[in-house]
Amino acid sequence: MEINSEPIVEQFIELARIDGVSFKERQIADRIMSKVKSWNYECIEDSAAQSIGGNTGNLIIRIPGKNTSAPPLLLAAHLDTVASTSGLEPVIRDGIISSDGSTILGADNRAGIALILYTLELLTKKQFDHRPLEIVFTVAEEKGMYGARALDFGALRAKEGYILDCSRRPGAYVATTPTALDFNIAFLGRASHAAVSPEKGINALSIAMQALCDFPVGRIDGDTVANIGSIKGGHATNVVPDRIEVSGEIRSFDQTRLNELRQLLCEKTHHVAEKMGGKIEIDFKNGFTGFKLLPQDPVVQRLEKALRKLGYTPEPLVYYGGSDANVFNNKHLTAVNIGIGASNPHSHQEFIHIKDLVDGAKLVLDLVRKDA
Ligand SMILES: [Zn+2]
Repeated sequence: MEINSEPIVEQFIELARIDGVSFKERQIADRIMSKVKSWNYECIEDSAAQSIGGNTGNLIIRIPGKNTSAPPLLLAAHLDTVASTSGLEPVIRDGIISSDGSTILGADNRAGIALILYTLELLTKKQFDHRPLEIVFTVAEEKGMYGARALDFGALRAKEGYILDCSRRPGAYVATTPTALDFNIAFLGRASHAAVSPEKGINALSIAMQALCDFPVGRIDGDTVANIGSIKGGHATNVVPDRIEVSGEIRSFDQTRLNELRQLLCEKTHHVAEKMGGKIEIDFKNGFTGFKLLPQDPVVQRLEKALRKLGYTPEPLVYYGGSDANVFNNKHLTAVNIGIGASNPHSHQEFIHIKDLVDGAKLVLDLVRKDA
């Protein structure tokens, strides 16, 4: 199907201009709901707002299939942007859309939403046979997939789908991701006047430094990365710090390695704190759970076929980042996160090629066809 770039570019820019940072997606959700309802589709908002402390729930749109008994297909994107797009001034030059540099563009993930809405609108106008669709627009993805985690998967019928949220250009898709483990350690010492009675103090920072000095960070091996990302604590130059909090993460494709590092961190910090007369409180939290899609998975095969038809060489990625795809796959809904070309995401230099928007729309249209 030939696609004119104008309506898709317009759709994208309209959506990108609407402010909607994580936990505050009300405006963008309302705009989408009114569009979808004007096309006579049912759109419901779930109760995620209450459970995650935001002002908006996930949106779920169900569209019956046409001339097919094929199982439903999920399409998903996230409503929130990593920073505000308020005051966005889009600049179009040489087939590329960017902001004027004073805000992000918001192509992550408004481009994904634009591709889905473009497809839905087309379904109301053009007569072609397509699978039943379940569209999910999640909230608060950028802060750790809060919306997807709160989603009632029992209410979804789809067992497979596509997420339009990978920043790489069309052709690429996320095939394998690691599991991420977040940690927070509070090193507890004892406060005292640092000059008058330093002997009475136990310096929490000294404990933290000794405990963490040989914890490996950076790219540890071919499967594993780790980071200590934040250090907080202390009161004043003349007070022995009684509490230092350190947080970080470990990501690995190898669960055994992940467990080893977790154990190492626990043992070493406990041991050092005890030896120095202090204590630690350590918390671990699942950042996201890894997955590995296989070339023979039907959802992968259909994607690769559709990409080849558009002239792309499919590029399965081994990718260290997490997305809603991690939550969906972990809930036994096989989901492929597809490259849509939102380049330089999370920065004011973010841009997208108009060609990527057009090819993305062609790709989605092909994937929803009943015989895709
Ligand atoms: Zn995103």
